[in-house]
Amino acid sequence: MNSPQRIIIAGGGTAGWMAAALMAHRFKSLPVVITLIESSDIATIGVGEGSTPSLKQFFAELGIADETWMPQCSATYKVGIEFCNWSPASGVPSYRHPFISQLDTFSQRPFEVNCQTRRLGLDVTTHPDKFLFNSYLAQAHCAPVTPPNFPFRMEYGYHFDSARLGQFLKKHAQQLGVRHVDARIAGVDTHPDGSLSTLIDASGQHYSGDMFVDCTGFRSLLLQQALAVPFVSFADNLFNNKAMVLATDTKAPLPVETKATALSNGWAWQIPLHSRTGNGYVYSDAYQTQEAAEQEFRRYLGVTDDAQVQHLSMQIGQVAQHWSKNCVALGLAQGFIEPLEATALHLVYQSARLFCDQYQHSGLKAQQSGTYNQQVTAQFDNVRDYIVAHYKLNTRNDSAYWQDNRNHRHLSESLLQILDTWYRGRDLAAHLANHREATHFHSTSWHCLLAGYGTFPALAPDQPGQGDLFKEHRLQQFFEGCLLNFKT
Ligand SMILES: Cc1cc2nc3c(=O)[nH]c(=O)nc-3n(C[C@H](O)[C@H](O)[C@H](O)COP(=O)(O)OP(=O)(O)OC[C@H]3O[C@@H](n4cnc5c(N)ncnc54)[C@H](O)[C@@H]3O)c2cc1C
Repeated sequence: MNSPQRIIIAGGGTAGWMAAALMAHRFKSLPVVITLIESSDIATIGVGEGSTPSLKQFFAELGIADETWMPQCSATYKVGIEFCNWSPASGVPSYRHPFISQLDTFSQRPFEVNCQTRRLGLDVTTHPDKFLFNSYLAQAHCAPVTPPNFPFRMEYGYHFDSARLGQFLKKHAQQLGVRHVDARIAGVDTHPDGSLSTLIDASGQHYSGDMFVDCTGFRSLLLQQALAVPFVSFADNLFNNKAMVLATDTKAPLPVETKATALSNGWAWQIPLHSRTGNGYVYSDAYQTQEAAEQEFRRYLGVTDDAQVQHLSMQIGQVAQHWSKNCVALGLAQGFIEPLEATALHLVYQSARLFCDQYQHSGLKAQQSGTYNQQVTAQFDNVRDYIVAHYKLNTRNDSAYWQDNRNHRHLSESLLQILDTWYRGRDLAAHLANHREATHFHSTSWHCLLAGYGTFPALAPDQPGQGDLFKEHRLQQFFEGCLLNFKT
């Protein structure tokens, strides 16, 4: 009989424990032994407090109900993100990018058609908040929990305490048989072909494995350090490299969305949990010193100098290969595209799921890494395009930071094509359907962004005064009626 495959996960942050729980669940009937090694002396990043609907899929796949994990992680529902003050000169001071629910089947096409009509200079409704149901929930502070007789499926993500989420997943993974070792990895041995063979801890203990999962955070001990896989920086069009975080009291009524407000040299998030409001300011130290950023952040929050601020550095980019030899990196070890759309754990789950699919299909074969790398890299690139567009389309003039973000020319070919399609008045939905696979940001997301930034030409002098599908389809009345089914 063959001996079981040994999978070693290095690192016990959210990425490590998500990977451990998912692999233990997926591989439960396979001859696989999973060991997670982490050092309690090395802190996790643990500021990730918002998710996409991917996290809902992750828990659904594990068979864990909201009622089981949410109270243990101080979690709240998240129906989307409100962007404030990113484009003041366009006449749209704020807009929402909500998660798309089944109810939006009725409004997505009218929204896209109206945007196309407006791009021809005709005066029709295009504000994203009007067209997508989760924005109505957000404005009314209603949770996306449906009564039993409500016939439509809702889509949502969560806000959560990431340290507690890690602890919850740790317990769950251990119950599924994952072995946990608390030790500091001090060395790595390789086979003659350069693949990894053994991790060695500070006391000289050896841990041999067949497959290694690098979840050691920005250090990337295995993939970037031991295997020397290069890191591809995104600094040429994503300038932010610093963040600071500070908790304040909970808000009442509890919001069901993240707020992302543009400040002078970056943006600030507000994330509602049951136990606190998580706040952060993401900025670039090339434009603002830590001291000046902290003062601005405190002023924005209205907090005193006694309140404790935690400062962080961020490396923005992705590894050149997410899977090299017998090592896959997940989480910050594989890359990070700044937290604006809270996509980090989304990318962890998508990558881990793809790895599990391939393993279940044909075992651990390094030659599968080609397809895997292509797909994961494309997912990172697609998220990057969407985030870069937020900065590129801003209309702020209060600092060099915002002007440089608007004026630089470092755009990917795919983003240039999206913007070109939009500006030429062509069918963006068709363009995206033909050119993009495997992306979290579908056509409606792009329409929210472009309409939300008021990216339209001047109105034409002659207006027919008809053809506004928002009014003709009576969408406001429809959504306000649906809203009566939901509670705060
Ligand atoms: C400012 C900011 C905001 C963010 N906001 C969000 C958000 O809203 N939503 C979201 O999804 N994500 C967000 N993220 C990202 C999110 O925090 C991380 O992706 C997530 O926490 C996963 O981190 P990780 O597990 O990869 O790394 P870490 O949390 O850094 O964990 C690394 C692990 O490796 C271990 N380790 C390191 N070296 C060794 C060693 N030598 N020996 C043994 N163990 C070792 C550590 O002990 C730790 O357990 C944000 C990140 C930042 C910086």
